[in-house]
Amino acid sequence: MKKHYRLVILGGGTAGISTASRILSEDKSLKNDVLIIEPTTHHYFQPGWPLVGSGEMKLEATKKSMDKVMPKGAKWLQETVERVDPVKREVAAGKYTIEYDFLVVALGIELNYDAIKGARESLGSNGVCTNYIYEHVNYTYETLQNVKEGNIVITKPQSRIKGGVSAENSVFTMDEYIKDNDSDASIVFRSGRDQVFKVKKYSDKIVERLEEKKIDYRMKEELVEVRGEHKEAVFENLDTGERHVVPFEMLVITPPMSGPSVLEGSGLLNPEGWVSVDPHTMMHNTYTTVFSLGDASSLPTVKMGSAVKEQMPILVKNLLERMDDKVPSHEYDGKTACPIATDYGHLILAEFDYNNIPEETTFLNQADNKKIFYQFKKNMLPIMYWNALLKGKV
Ligand SMILES: Cc1cc2nc3c(=O)[nH]c(=O)nc-3n(C[C@H](O)[C@H](O)[C@H](O)COP(=O)(O)OP(=O)(O)OC[C@H]3O[C@@H](n4cnc5c(N)ncnc54)[C@H](O)[C@@H]3O)c2cc1C
Repeated sequence: MKKHYRLVILGGGTAGISTASRILSEDKSLKNDVLIIEPTTHHYFQPGWPLVGSGEMKLEATKKSMDKVMPKGAKWLQETVERVDPVKREVAAGKYTIEYDFLVVALGIELNYDAIKGARESLGSNGVCTNYIYEHVNYTYETLQNVKEGNIVITKPQSRIKGGVSAENSVFTMDEYIKDNDSDASIVFRSGRDQVFKVKKYSDKIVERLEEKKIDYRMKEELVEVRGEHKEAVFENLDTGERHVVPFEMLVITPPMSGPSVLEGSGLLNPEGWVSVDPHTMMHNTYTTVFSLGDASSLPTVKMGSAVKEQMPILVKNLLERMDDKVPSHEYDGKTACPIATDYGHLILAEFDYNNIPEETTFLNQADNKKIFYQFKKNMLPIMYWNALLKGKV
């Protein structure tokens, strides 16, 4: 194990692996001089989890052994990052202290189930589900198949989250599931946000679908407590502070999320807890040897793999310029894509930039729910994820 690397990448998720692949293919001199620090044994295709939760994909198809996705020419240190010192340019992980010339922070986002009283201990029984943890996703579909009456309550927190529209996907697909399977259950959607979606063009369509399907939905209602054994969810109204108890047969939780706590005190985070980078170049606002992308970064877009796909090639160009002692000149415009299934088979494909201006890839109106978009997400996206994005190709 070398003590010093030209480039160290923290995290072997979507952003870390794709960045390593891309930079190694663009600059052959970096071979064996890129280190990825990642503790887990497996890499996950997380966008597949809501599809698993609605019975449309097999859980096993969302998981691959980490060594299978590590790019050739990169070294993998299977440890947890414990400390970063951007002044000394050092990372501590397990018994190792690694020095770097350049650093990419791709540590993803933290899931805070503990912010909801009783949530963590309730997961996996009494109908309490989540699509955000691999081990729990099968329980979502299992529960859906057994609910014959009562409320299926789907929640979304006020905080920034990854997979920004996964709750809405559950709302629409589960509504169709119960109607097709003669269940008397009702869908209840509670969101801590003040609006359904931040881009009007898509928000209008989503609201139209919610109303058409007569879904009971309310904004600014944050899940604060789960009473698993009593099958009760407690929500707090974020304007009035009033609490409401909603009984459920099934509860699907998207938990509050936050930036990488391991970096607290390192000087790398902004006051909100995200890695503080320039929104366009993705170079750190203080330390010019540090870059960040994906969920851990302060980039003010919806945190999605599709955003990483846009960010990664630009970050790599800028990083190579910095390695060459030049000023980064390439700019990310905030483009991201949010696929919102409006039933089994149709999907709205919201694509927009930092200014919330739609930036659509196809010549179709992507706010119209289309079969082709659903087929793309279900069948093409996994193939493109494993075979193109993770290999640095976009
Ligand atoms: C339910 C769900 C649905 C989603 N739906 C979509 C979708 O439809 N479309 C879409 O584009 N995106 C979707 N996403 C979001 C997408 O998966 C993420 O935005 C994307 O994976 C971000 O990549 P990342 O590398 O920043 O984070 P991740 O891929 O999460 O990777 C972070 C990595 O950092 C590692 N790590 C964490 N802490 C440490 C540490 N201390 N030391 C070392 N390593 C560490 C983790 O183990 C992980 O491997 C969804 C996500 C979920 C969970």
